[in-house]
Amino acid sequence: MAELAADRWQIIQRFGPHLSEMEGLRLDTGVEPDRLVKTHCCFCGQQCGIQLKVKANQVIGFEPWEDFPFNRGMLCPKGVKRYLQGAHPDRLLTALKRDPQAAGGFAPLAYPEAIRLVAEQIERLQQAHGPEAMAVLSGASLTTEKTYLMGKFARMCLKTANIDYNGRLCMVSAAAGNKKAFGIDRAANPWSDILGAEVVWISGANIAECAPITTNYVWQAREHGARIIIVDPRITPIARTCDLFLPVKPGRDVALFNGILHLMIQNDWLDHAFIQKHTVGFEAVAQHVEEWTPQHTAEVTGIAEKLICQAAEWWGQAKSSFLMHARGIEHHSHGVQNVLGAINLVLASGRIGRENRGYATITGQANGQGGREHGQKCDQLPGGRDLANPEHRAHVARIWGIPPEELPGPGVDAYEIFRKIDRGEIRGLLSICFNPRISLPDNAFIQRCLEKLEFYVAIDFFLNDTAHHADVVLPGSLHEEDEGVVTQLEGRVIKINQAVECPGEARQDWRIIQDLAAALGRARGFQFTSVREIFDELRRASQGGIADYSGITYEKIERANGVFWPCPSADPQGRPIDHPGTPRLFEPGSWNPIARGQGPFYFPDGKARFNVAAYTPPAEEVDEAYPLMLTTGRVVSQFLSGTQTRRIGPLVRQYPEPRIEIHPRLARQLGIADGDWTTAESRRGSCTLRAQVVATIRPDTVFIPYHWAGKKSANQLTISAQDPISKIPEYKVCAVRVRKAAGPPAEAARLEPQQ
Ligand code: SF4
Repeated sequence: MAELAADRWQIIQRFGPHLSEMEGLRLDTGVEPDRLVKTHCCFCGQQCGIQLKVKANQVIGFEPWEDFPFNRGMLCPKGVKRYLQGAHPDRLLTALKRDPQAAGGFAPLAYPEAIRLVAEQIERLQQAHGPEAMAVLSGASLTTEKTYLMGKFARMCLKTANIDYNGRLCMVSAAAGNKKAFGIDRAANPWSDILGAEVVWISGANIAECAPITTNYVWQAREHGARIIIVDPRITPIARTCDLFLPVKPGRDVALFNGILHLMIQNDWLDHAFIQKHTVGFEAVAQHVEEWTPQHTAEVTGIAEKLICQAAEWWGQAKSSFLMHARGIEHHSHGVQNVLGAINLVLASGRIGRENRGYATITGQANGQGGREHGQKCDQLPGGRDLANPEHRAHVARIWGIPPEELPGPGVDAYEIFRKIDRGEIRGLLSICFNPRISLPDNAFIQRCLEKLEFYVAIDFFLNDTAHHADVVLPGSLHEEDEGVVTQLEGRVIKINQAVECPGEARQDWRIIQDLAAALGRARGFQFTSVREIFDELRRASQGGIADYSGITYEKIERANGVFWPCPSADPQGRPIDHPGTPRLFEPGSWNPIARGQGPFYFPDGKARFNVAAYTPPAEEVDEAYPLMLTTGRVVSQFLSGTQTRRIGPLVRQYPEPRIEIHPRLARQLGIADGDWTTAESRRGSCTLRAQVVATIRPDTVFIPYHWAGKKSANQLTISAQDPISKIPEYKVCAVRVRKAAGPPAEAARLEPQQ
């Protein structure tokens, strides 16, 4: 494709976002549903249990699912309204083909014809330019079975190394840091361990808006006497109820962690026995943090010395604790260093792997955990296996029935896939449930790349902003139209249950992938007749890997309200076992196929690794031309690129448009009043939005939520600098300038009535 098939306005008029409302069956609370389906919310990584009310093949409402142990019936505003995405006017009911003559630039196409066309184009590109000319971008909101199938499809059917997923924008710094320190990438403790902690430390996590149910755990801990420490550039809602708030400058978290460790060492607030018995590398880290005196830490982080000392004292002297972090410390060009700095504090305290002594990263997307375990990452095979490891390749190749040499090697990350498109090395793209036009930094570059593609097919249930550029769109399935497992943020594998059938010509995504494989004449390995069959193969493929699901069955999940992996099916001698799952990693006696009794951590010697966590400034420092820091994030009523939530009326009305948060002192200096049209500008683009003058942000920082498209997209401004290890982009800090604008941008004014 080249340019858009129609003006963006016309595409939006035809395909939305339009708003769904509580109307008809969904308004009448007296309607008796045909059935209640126990399943989970489709949005964030907490995966709250919910019961969907179904009538006449429509989800018409919900009931709480009070027995599900994580949320006990509680839901946030998104969960309460998630049922409004079904039977939506924007739902794609047929395949679409790019057609500049058609309304909105796309004409309906019969499904078999669309599959034939896509296969023909893939065949043509691969014949002419080799298998690597095709790339796949997948999603972490898909069920684990689908993520497994996407990895298999790319490598075995398309024979391309070019597959990555949108968890690249979410969890990869946490994953890489956890692998380096613990040898495994999963929350170390279940959330119930928060409740009895003396100190709860939360860095870079706006939990009240992004992980709302976690707030309840933290508040319960506080009721029991816990001290809550929050580190953030903004006084987020959870920070308003904490005991100690550390207003860190964006991008300086590792400096703070090093400063705290410095004080722990100086005051001997260390668990020497734990460090000696269960870790390696402490001496090098201790030496490294010598320079991080309170004064030096204060200079770099912008946090007052006395607050740093107070935090160190509370953390250092606690007997029990829980440390959590999220994208605020991970979305950086040194995100992995930030994570390692946090883990060093936990290891030095010795408080991990036991009751009320915990550590976890807060997963963002619905299947942010399961979606990063079974092979859709560019360097990974199912079971958390390594695509570069010959033994791992041999195991998975055996399950797939191919010689290991037929498996491509490791590919490149999602952003690098776009750079390859830009260079003409990748010419065709298949995407599923990924909206990079909004969600990747430096939007203008991503748009240019999309315009360079020779062929682009998108699988989705709504026409997202990236799919505006597609040649063919295949109508996939909504969350409630399919079944499968996901793994929520604690590491608990849970089951999504199908509530309704796909409408019109829409298909379950795994069937679409298999139809494509068949049309390409490469159906071997893609002839599953049910999701359960895919799961059974995934279990075998994961067996013996770190993310071992082999002992998990749908029935076991249902009986136990979820099963924590690892959950093996055989003991070290190969005898079958009925393993209950592993809620608390690193607990004495817990399953560990790597250490095999040597210790709790997932290395052959069983010991965790301290890692020197080096501070480097953000990729783009402020200067005279761009004197302010921009940080981005979420609001409670919207989710990620807004493909779903910007289509739900009550959620849109709760926070109708993005605003630029700006401190009153800065606003005064710039002559900006609350509600004024204001332009934020970086070296990559500009964005004109209304100002929201708030005292809850650092005066040297502005904040824009990132859920909106086009001229409202915060990612017009963000920088594509990436962490060298995790390849996560630096969403959380770049340099901008801000000024009062004359009025709204032309496009924003025109699109306003639609939203
Ligand atoms: S968005 Fe997250 S917190 Fe809100 S109901 Fe859904 S899963 Fe729960």
